[in-house]
Amino acid sequence: MMTIKRWLDKPYNNLNDALRQKFGKKIIKLSVDGGFSCPNRDGRVGIGGCLFCTEQGSGEFSGDCRLNITAQLEQQIELLRDKWPEAEYIAYFQSFSNTYGDLDYMERQFRAAMTYPGVVGLAIATRVDCIGEEVLKLLTTLSQETYIWVEMGLQSVYAHHHKLLNTGYTPDQFSEATIRLAERGIDVVGHIILGLPDTPETVLDDTVDFLNRLPLAGVKLHMLNVLRGTALAALYASKPFELLSMEHYLEQVRYIIERLRPDIVVHRVTGDGAKALLIEPTWILNKRHVLNTLLKAFSAHESYQGKYFR
Ligand code: SF4
Repeated sequence: MMTIKRWLDKPYNNLNDALRQKFGKKIIKLSVDGGFSCPNRDGRVGIGGCLFCTEQGSGEFSGDCRLNITAQLEQQIELLRDKWPEAEYIAYFQSFSNTYGDLDYMERQFRAAMTYPGVVGLAIATRVDCIGEEVLKLLTTLSQETYIWVEMGLQSVYAHHHKLLNTGYTPDQFSEATIRLAERGIDVVGHIILGLPDTPETVLDDTVDFLNRLPLAGVKLHMLNVLRGTALAALYASKPFELLSMEHYLEQVRYIIERLRPDIVVHRVTGDGAKALLIEPTWILNKRHVLNTLLKAFSAHESYQGKYFR
């Protein structure tokens, strides 16, 4: 029988605990906008972008892109200093594809963040097709100077979902990019979207198998959000499809976590959903209730991450 591992806060290997263990203190993620673009929007791979992507390149919570990186960090840290005087920070390059474009510019943006006082690492969101040799070289060099993780959207383990979502890449490409980064010692965090239309019944087992086989350091689980102004919103309006209820979504999250490798850090179990843009599902806005309901279910089932991991 597997040893029961208890994390400080939650019945799963959560980001807060993982960062506390790594750095010995509270670490806060600050979203910055590095002014990058995306090959799935500028025509190199596609023009429409991913079906769910907003005008902000899925970076609604990022800092003000009119400010430079230093000013964005300064502004956010100023607001947090009183509440968390001892905290340090991870600068999160969230909007668009942050390893796409001019390498010198990229390096300048990353270095501006990693040298800011109190910043102990970088989280870099990007696409699987933006991890070329030059980018790998740069990330490897920077990772010898600071802690780095790279976030990429797996979204779904099925190729037909990638066509529907217009991501412009495949699950195999996600695997290849993950392996290449992990071989250089760089942590990779994969995003998963639950509740996509046309989902096979085996989705949860297929997803868990896919994740557990890869050298992934973390996952983010999201409910499919329909946001105003996206191609997904147009599709939803013309051909409405059923979205998961909170209960159904949380059952899926628990099922996945119970079978997930215990060393994989769960960065997120529910998305934030930009309130002003959200069409459905509105239950995600009550994040505290969603999290409490999940924790109660784990407790009622005496469950935890990896309970059924084989
Ligand atoms: S890769 Fe990211 S930024 Fe580009 S279209 Fe897709 S979600 Fe938007």
